[in-house]
Amino acid sequence: MKLTVLLAALAFIACARHPAPEAPRPSILLVTLDTTRADAVRPNIAPNFNAIAKRGLRFTQAYTPVPQTLAAHCSMMTGLYPAGHGVHENGRYLSDRVPLLAEKLKGGGYRTAAFVSAFALARRFGLGRGFDVYDEDFGSDRAERTAKETTDRVLAYLGRPSPQPLFLWVHYYDPHFPYTPPPPFHGYLGEVSFMDQQLGRLVSAFHGAVIIVGDHGEGLGEHGEAQHGDLLYQATMHVPLAIIGPGITPNVTDAPVSTRRVFHTILDWVGLDATHSLRRPEQEVVVGEAMKPFLDYGWQPQVMALEGRLKTISAGKIEVYDVIADPAETHDLSARASLSRPVRAAIQQYPIPSFAPPPTDEESRKQLASLGYVSATTKPIVRKDAPRPADMEHLFPLLDEAAHLFVAERYREVIPLLERILKEDPQNLDSALRLATAYSSLGRDREAVAAFERAQAIDPNSEDVRTYLGLHLAHGKDWQKAIPLLERVVADDPERLPAVEGLATIRERQGRIEDAIRLRQQIYRQRAPTSGELVQLGRMAMAVGQTAAAIDAFEKAHDDHDLELGVLYLAAGRLQEARDALDRVLPSSPDYAMALFKRAQVSVLLHEPDAVAHIDAARQHADATTRELIATERLFR
Ligand SMILES: [Zn+2]
Repeated sequence: MKLTVLLAALAFIACARHPAPEAPRPSILLVTLDTTRADAVRPNIAPNFNAIAKRGLRFTQAYTPVPQTLAAHCSMMTGLYPAGHGVHENGRYLSDRVPLLAEKLKGGGYRTAAFVSAFALARRFGLGRGFDVYDEDFGSDRAERTAKETTDRVLAYLGRPSPQPLFLWVHYYDPHFPYTPPPPFHGYLGEVSFMDQQLGRLVSAFHGAVIIVGDHGEGLGEHGEAQHGDLLYQATMHVPLAIIGPGITPNVTDAPVSTRRVFHTILDWVGLDATHSLRRPEQEVVVGEAMKPFLDYGWQPQVMALEGRLKTISAGKIEVYDVIADPAETHDLSARASLSRPVRAAIQQYPIPSFAPPPTDEESRKQLASLGYVSATTKPIVRKDAPRPADMEHLFPLLDEAAHLFVAERYREVIPLLERILKEDPQNLDSALRLATAYSSLGRDREAVAAFERAQAIDPNSEDVRTYLGLHLAHGKDWQKAIPLLERVVADDPERLPAVEGLATIRERQGRIEDAIRLRQQIYRQRAPTSGELVQLGRMAMAVGQTAAAIDAFEKAHDDHDLELGVLYLAAGRLQEARDALDRVLPSSPDYAMALFKRAQVSVLLHEPDAVAHIDAARQHADATTRELIATERLFR
């Protein structure tokens, strides 16, 4: 039997190392157009795209492997389907182990620069590796910027000449909801037109090969989907794609292709590997997925496979559409059409994600929510009675609104929405858990416990239920019940930070400071601590005599902690450092008396000639505490 598309995709990495650079290699520009439907780039809406595409090869049947920003870009930057790179949703991290296009190009002697226009693609999510420049400055309190702002910055960068060839990735975000282009433009298509103006500016300032591609489309109400990510119909999966560069003769092709092959095409131009380059025609079954409803609500996983003009969707049942004759996908041909063997294999062997990677930190989650992305907090479970996402479209607006209210901590408002969702979809674990958390946050204890029990009934083994029930109990100071729940979660999954933080707080309140310190250190290995948290950790470590840990914490804290550091350096026998730190304590500081006392001790120990003067100064400025210390200090006799 023919090897499945997917296995082939997973194997690509292995054959990507044959450096045979020839003649001068071109600079390469990759432009990714966020949320841009294939049918949105028509000539009157996107004249620049059309003019540029005429110079190269335009694909009328290009498909994203996944209708979400981060996951789609991960596929273009790795050449892999989501099952290969592991990112199915926004707000997840791309593993460091997956090689990236920019790393390969940089290794091949390219300068590399990326300019992204939305937080969904911020460096922290893993796509920054291999880029010399990764420009993600959206201005303070903003999670996105316009194509004009991004283009201005790119053009400034292009003004700096270099003998090296350049790999430049520019991401535009304008057509994403909300649709608010500057005048005279209006609505979604107006956003596309505005972006197209900037595309024209950008491409005319660049000399080299160019790829322009959509990351995914936009539902605009088709099949009940307003935006993207929940379904895999043409509105969101079918995207624009044009390539202009070496070995390309101007043409238009209707061969179905996956946008993940952007990766292979660029490696081909660079001379690293020609496998799967879009420069050569290649028959393939193009596959795609939309796992968000599965990962977030436990609904049917959705997979598509496209061969020729027939698209097969598997999501609880099989649908087949002729996407050329029926691009709106209104006539299901599954009763008449029989699936080819490669299509059947692609669908049956498509790997369904069996676990959710740890969710991103709270700050990232809020920023993503401000862009309209909210991902689940629970692990997916495969439900026997899982509904088809396409049958649940009437719930999408409700789910989206509930997710936003929840992230915004508007618990009172979110409760009735969650109750309505659970009425229609009683097995929805994420909603049950959010309902319990909302009641808990409002201090409505009895209702919270009832909701947690409901969540536990949906999935008795859920680590999330254990975590949030544990936190709820801890909040009510029911430590006896909370501790075993949280301890179990921390033992099973040390990366589940809310549980580790909950347990750390309990240990601190119980006075089990060593345990609290160990847990805090575990947390800060996974996320950066705030300055306040470092001070707190430093004080705890100081209190139990963990000098080295305390020094480490205070040194990393941003504000001045010169008294603490002076005392700690002295305790560690690091006298010069103790002297310097104590000398930095200002007379205006409330700790000045103590600093002078400690400084006098250091002075004696260092045998400084003016030690007596330091002792006098300490006496002169002594307060109630230090007066007694000075009187009994043997070093001063
Ligand atoms: Zn996107």
